[in-house]
Amino acid sequence: MRCSLFLPHAIVKQTDDPLFLCPWDAWRFRVAYSLLRALCVLSALCVSYFRMLFSREMHADIQFMQEALAEARAAAAAGEVPIGAVLIHNDAILSRSGNRTIRDCDPTAHAEITVLREAARLLGNYRLAETTLYVTIEPCSMCAGAIIQARVPRLVYGADDPKGGAVRSCFEILSNPCLNHQVEITSGVLAADCAAILQSFFAERR
Ligand SMILES: [Zn+2]
Repeated sequence: MRCSLFLPHAIVKQTDDPLFLCPWDAWRFRVAYSLLRALCVLSALCVSYFRMLFSREMHADIQFMQEALAEARAAAAAGEVPIGAVLIHNDAILSRSGNRTIRDCDPTAHAEITVLREAARLLGNYRLAETTLYVTIEPCSMCAGAIIQARVPRLVYGADDPKGGAVRSCFEILSNPCLNHQVEITSGVLAADCAAILQSFFAERR
């Protein structure tokens, strides 16, 4: 064997010399070397493309979580437990709300339930396909149930709720294998900010 696919470029030039390589070997070597280089370029392009997609999604997650945080702050200003949510459809906010349990005198008026109801009304459909729900705190069991009923494909939340979270902290409702509908979950987006609003709200009331 007089040539190798892994020879550096300088050696390839050397082995192109007819004194070292017969024409047939040289031709095969050039083809193999060109294919290898094309493969390397293609791999680099693929890595760049997926990195770009990932960073774009991460940027969108942060942007929409900031909108949910704005709803949480507005809820705090209204004397509600500061949890906010937004529902995204076609890359835009379809509905947004903070907790409204006290204002509406409604124990089910969590931010998530409120945005799901509004989105279903706007879309004229109780199934919310192709949407993403952003919420500042890990949803409770009621809201996790509503997410499944609405067939929301993706959930992004900020901080875990060790006292009632139904995604992974207290219950794992969304990932229960008995369910047909599985939700893609991203957690921990702006988690420190989301938790801080809640902590300072309760600290002020002690
Ligand atoms: Zn809830």
